[in-house]
Amino acid sequence: MSNKIYADNAATTRLSHNAYEAMLPYLTEEYGNASQLYSFARAPKTALRKARTIIAECIGAMPEEIFFTSCGTESDNWAIQGAVQKRLDIVTSSIEHSAILRPCQYAEKEGINVVYLPVSKEGIISPLTLNTALSNGRKLVSIMYANNEIGTLEPIAQLAETAHRHNCIFHTDAVQAVGHIHINVRELDVDMLSASAHKFNGPKGIGFMFIKKGIDWPSLIKGGAQEYNQRAGTENIASIIGMAVALQENVASIDDDTQHIRKLEDRVIKGLSEAGVSFKRNGSSMHIPGNISLSFPNAEAEVLLHRLDLLGVSVSTGSACDSKKTQVSHVLSAIGLDEGYAKGTIRISLNKDNTLEEANTIAKIISSIISNNRI
Ligand code: PLP
Repeated sequence: MSNKIYADNAATTRLSHNAYEAMLPYLTEEYGNASQLYSFARAPKTALRKARTIIAECIGAMPEEIFFTSCGTESDNWAIQGAVQKRLDIVTSSIEHSAILRPCQYAEKEGINVVYLPVSKEGIISPLTLNTALSNGRKLVSIMYANNEIGTLEPIAQLAETAHRHNCIFHTDAVQAVGHIHINVRELDVDMLSASAHKFNGPKGIGFMFIKKGIDWPSLIKGGAQEYNQRAGTENIASIIGMAVALQENVASIDDDTQHIRKLEDRVIKGLSEAGVSFKRNGSSMHIPGNISLSFPNAEAEVLLHRLDLLGVSVSTGSACDSKKTQVSHVLSAIGLDEGYAKGTIRISLNKDNTLEEANTIAKIISSIISNNRI
């Protein structure tokens, strides 16, 4: 990637070098099965315990409230499919990730009533709107912490409080938030929280679910007795360790990284404005650091993405495209973005690894593509 600029960190991130180093012994030497009783299982078992404690500390939880899963998608499925097993109706939002929306469609087929709350034009779910949807009976409320397309941070503490006033269980898909903003599950008072390591410089294919002590939530993956009988399957020790190291590292530098990333954001926006490019920034001023959703009027996002790619810059589109027609994403539709803007929407997601020089270059390249009418 030497002369390439990676600006799609909301899709995935580079593996932390320290995480990689910490993982190695558990792939090569200490490969024992942590569930076994003999001494060869001692090192992986100890490492598993340590990783659980580190992760719990990073989000203000207790170790026994952390359950390792294979990814954010599995954690989200666990929340929604648990509601189906418990026959609880669900209230969620119209801007959730497909890891929530697809299981919700399944829940509806299983006879569960699912309400999809609308959002403001900044992508915010109002606690008042949630309140009106919670009149009768215990439900599962699942609202994402940070939106993956436009970066908007939701008022999770107020939403959880609203849910609890109605005796409901509150889950948050915090896949885009964990490791990027300070999170304390006690202060937020959430009952369940999903996370995924590859979004915070950990390895791919590993995630976790926080389930508050006392919440009786049915398991999704049934089989062996791993994870306190709650999530079966031999633990992926190396990845769990990599996840813990990466999270600890990210959490320790959140404040410095946020400062740096905000400067990068400003540089991109300033660069485009100074070049006289016409654009609209989506989302709210309360957003996850580094997420810049930009809509260029009358542009084709996919063409812009390919032109940027040819010039060495990786970003993603805010709209899924097929060969004939650009499909406007459900998030951009939910915030009421005009189709002329929605079709020309890209997501630049910067993180601690990006430099000011890269931010300048991104702005310059986009400006030259747009001003030369090459989209
Ligand atoms: N939820 C959100 C908000 C996401 O952004 C993603 C991934 O992009 C997921 C869930 C799924 O996570 P994973 O890739 O670990 O399955």
